Amino acid sequence: MGIIEEINKLKREKNAIILAHNYQKSTVQDIADFVGDSLKLAQEATRADSEVIVFCGVTFMAETAKILNPEKKILIPDIARCSMAQLLSPNEVIEAKKEYPGAEIVLYINTLAESKAEADCMCTSANATEIVNSMNSDLILFGPDKNLADYVRGGTKKTIISIPEYGLCPTHHQISEEDVIKVRNTYPDAKLVVHPECILEVQRLADHIASTDGMIDFCKKSESKEFIIGTENGILHRLRKEIPTKKFHTASSTTICPDMKMITPEKIKRSLEKEKFEIIVPKQVAKRAKRAIERMLELS
Ligand code: SF4
Repeated sequence: MGIIEEINKLKREKNAIILAHNYQKSTVQDIADFVGDSLKLAQEATRADSEVIVFCGVTFMAETAKILNPEKKILIPDIARCSMAQLLSPNEVIEAKKEYPGAEIVLYINTLAESKAEADCMCTSANATEIVNSMNSDLILFGPDKNLADYVRGGTKKTIISIPEYGLCPTHHQISEEDVIKVRNTYPDAKLVVHPECILEVQRLADHIASTDGMIDFCKKSESKEFIIGTENGILHRLRKEIPTKKFHTASSTTICPDMKMITPEKIKRSLEKEKFEIIVPKQVAKRAKRAIERMLELS
């Protein structure tokens, strides 16, 4: 029996489904029951009627699935931690709240569960501007991604204060203006589509800025036949698979997130066999974090 058959057999035995983020390896995406961005995966986790969810992504995503589905067993095939999520501790959020008592706190879903517990509302790159605009206060503490905060500023009249001051995703932050200009010169007819975790200078050059699922929608609907994609390169697999009639180029061949690439089909099989690594979120943290996540889902 090949590894895919073995995984499918284990899935049936355990009543499990596999969710995978758009940045996962192509071999992992092809095994998954559902592939999507953070928002779609959070929504899919709540819809799933399986007892076990194997979450192929980074730990904050699996924690979000656990917070929304405390009765389900959530497994992650390897302890892959998003580098950006580690940049904002719950204490920093508490200190910022003290400094700006009238502000509301909107945190990117790429945060630790303990930091989510301190937030008024969560957001993803797909809904960040919409969420900020729907908050009551005109002063918003926003973190941890400074580049996403810069993007949101362009779509709101509210005052946005970044917490921490310089949080970023190392994978997206390294896509430079020079990279983009060089690739644009090579493919002058291609539309440039970038993620809002990219630096503001790159965002300003783009024809369209979107989350990964937003990029797929845009490329499907666009009349253009060729695109330069500025985000983690795992998304190219889905784009080429779902839109085979169009051409996709990367803005930078080095845009690879080492955290996202830790998961392999072998680790998925082991995860199902040994039921590890199980995601546990302390009840008090989960209860408070759930309020902020559910508020986002209601507003999305
Ligand atoms: S691409 Fe960036 S934000 Fe996404 S998981 Fe990797 S480090 Fe975190």
